Amino acid sequence: DAVMAKYTKDKKVGEGTFAVVYVGKQVKTDRKIAIKQIKEGEFKDGVDMSAIREIKFLQEIRHANVIELIDVFTAGPRLSMVLEFLPTDLEGLIKDTKILFRLGDVKAWMLMATRGLHHCHRLQILHRDLKPNNLLISPTGELKIADFGLARQMPNPKDKMTPTVVTRWYRAPELLFGARYYTPAVDVWSLGLIFAELMLRLPYCPGEDDIDQIDKTFRAFGTPTEEEWPGLTSLPAYPKTVNKYPHPSVQELKMRFSAATENGLELFQAMTELNPADRVSCEEALTADYFTEFPRPTKLAELPGRT
Ligand code: ADP
Repeated sequence: DAVMAKYTKDKKVGEGTFAVVYVGKQVKTDRKIAIKQIKEGEFKDGVDMSAIREIKFLQEIRHANVIELIDVFTAGPRLSMVLEFLPTDLEGLIKDTKILFRLGDVKAWMLMATRGLHHCHRLQILHRDLKPNNLLISPTGELKIADFGLARQMPNPKDKMTPTVVTRWYRAPELLFGARYYTPAVDVWSLGLIFAELMLRLPYCPGEDDIDQIDKTFRAFGTPTEEEWPGLTSLPAYPKTVNKYPHPSVQELKMRFSAATENGLELFQAMTELNPADRVSCEEALTADYFTEFPRPTKLAELPGRT
């Protein structure tokens, strides 16, 4: 048919909860593409809302550090998205112990992720599910934010939003406490935890359940107080009892992240302020000294993970 005259669908390369992903080619250009075919599942009468959201947002966002949606088509009842082919993700690189990360590599990835996220936030779009597995790497080494199935438009303070977004380990404290109104700061928190994971090569707050996630977050960042975060203890899911941990000192952070520079730790701390009102925005983060000090961000051609 007309669609398959435009693209070839070759072998299956992956499968997620809602989609099967195939590698193929755009016939006209010979460009490698990914075809993400949405599964039917529970949504027999309609289309999965997360697929609609993802398409809507990706059509709007065009940025070097966000995955490109090339086309959308239906084949029978199935909806398919044609995406640029991005064979590697940051989770895979973090877990590949044969690959050494230099300070400049981490900086280059953080810079690209912050730029992509800044663009989303400028368009008032919250990603709401940032994690290493959703930061994909192009064959030339470019980092691209993917998986906008949970994204949404910045709400009015009047609109209630669900707090059960973001994979637990990267979930901001305001979400852990059930805040129904939240801001782009939830994504900045996730980016801060990804920054820690790039430095440590291990997840920084790997909670085993929602209760443990709160405890691990406090252990890592200190237990916030009502003075530091007015309204904190009245949030819907704030626990009746919490363990009290001190905020880590600069000395303590230097020990935990021994390779990091002071400017690196300063940005990390600004991205992981417990009170979302105090957390740095992407726009501010992009002006951090960390990004201009030496070592410079590694050039694309020298980054690990290119294919
Ligand atoms: P999940 O978010 O559960 O990983 P996805 O449906 O987004 O699910 O993708 C499933 C798998 O398909 C991914 O883990 C990855 O291996 C592969 N994949 C997804 N998108 C692309 C892409 N643009 N290029 C190459 N492979 C992809």
